[in-house]
Amino acid sequence: MSENKTDFNAMKEELFYAPKHASRIISADEVAVADAYCEGYKQFLNDAKTEREAVTAAVAQAENNGFTPYEFGKKYAPGAKVYYNNRGKSIILAVVGTRSLADGVRIAAAHIDSPRLDLKPNPLYEDNDIALLKTHYYGGIKKYQWTVIPLALHGVVIKKDGSSVNVCIGEDDADPKFVITDLLPHLAQEQSKRTLGDGIRGEELNIVIGSRPFADCEESEAVKLNIMKMLNEKYGIIEADFLSAELEIVPAYKACDIGLDRSLIGAYGHDDRVCAYPALTAILETENPEYTVLTVLTDKEETGSDGNTGLNSSYMADFITDMAQTQGIPGHICMKNSECLSADVNAAFDPTFSDVLERRNAAYINKGIVITKYTGSRGKGGTSDASAELMGRVRNMLDKNGVVWQIGELGKVDLGGGGTVAKYVAAHNIDVVDAGVPVLSMHAPFEVVSKLDVYMTYRAFKVFFAD
Ligand code: MN
Ligand code: MN
Repeated sequence: MSENKTDFNAMKEELFYAPKHASRIISADEVAVADAYCEGYKQFLNDAKTEREAVTAAVAQAENNGFTPYEFGKKYAPGAKVYYNNRGKSIILAVVGTRSLADGVRIAAAHIDSPRLDLKPNPLYEDNDIALLKTHYYGGIKKYQWTVIPLALHGVVIKKDGSSVNVCIGEDDADPKFVITDLLPHLAQEQSKRTLGDGIRGEELNIVIGSRPFADCEESEAVKLNIMKMLNEKYGIIEADFLSAELEIVPAYKACDIGLDRSLIGAYGHDDRVCAYPALTAILETENPEYTVLTVLTDKEETGSDGNTGLNSSYMADFITDMAQTQGIPGHICMKNSECLSADVNAAFDPTFSDVLERRNAAYINKGIVITKYTGSRGKGGTSDASAELMGRVRNMLDKNGVVWQIGELGKVDLGGGGTVAKYVAAHNIDVVDAGVPVLSMHAPFEVVSKLDVYMTYRAFKVFFAD
């Protein structure tokens, strides 16, 4: 009897697919390495809450690691490290390999924009002695989640004379913060009848920015005048300068450990910094690769990748084509032999909301990087479905290098679904598959990930670049 049972267990071990908690696979020492790696990630989250700040941070780290600005048309020797800063909002880092670019490149592509609230072009107004800012939300948000939390203002203003000024208020502990108000429950009888999606409406996402009038001024709009005067003193801007600005409202709090065991990280903007940071650190540590490797940190994924800083533009293909041409290789030859890990998050199984996921094909926190063969919903519309051949290659690569990974679909077949940059990469005839970190409360102003999954994603990019 017991002998039979042992046989069954051995057979199951051999024949069944049963992904495990990463800490049951790796050593305690490696868990400690993963935790230490995530301290750097938390710092990156705090330093880079917007796409522009992520590019600034990436450029600084790239230059510290010997990367120089890419010169179009210049031929680089194997081992050269370059970066291409696309308008301060997306960036490509590359390390030139020993192989010809005819053999293709290895790309890790993550996005550095996150759901947020943008200020409208003419945002500032006053109503009954309260100064407020109108917003237009960016990306997929549940609007009610953005009320009654401390908020910060980040961005850039181009002044009338053409000079630019960076704005950041609410990140320093001593800084004031901002807030969107919500109705008290005592008076919310009518609001409570709204659907959850309609509970707070787009035009109700108004930011409180002040409430004191300018020096005993009895004129109308004295509170607005006071705010404008303070902004003018601090940044030298006038109201019309809002018209040529990109100002973004993001949560004001910092990343922190979650759980008594500190196994998780709570923060704003995990989607997709949790893949961007591993893709960045992996390339910074890459020396003399066989294939030329690229880390692409892109913008505009959350609004569909449109625009010239998003991957539905030609900037990545143009960069690859330019590099290939310096070796006398047509760009399309390089791209058809290239491979890409489209590095983006997936929904983690949440015990509280388990009915939206199909348990056998859901991603779970702590089970490692999740490989997503296809996104999309219903009939797989709008997805790039990775080939069995590419899945086989990636699977083999991760297994032989001891990278803990799992498979995952985004939700049940007939439910929502979502897209990534994969299809825009595939449009250039590049082999691509989605890979990234499972996230709890995705797109909330405070998302949660597992430290072990972040670390395994970093390891996956490292082995991909070395493979
Ligand atoms: Mn994403
Ligand atoms: Mn997203």
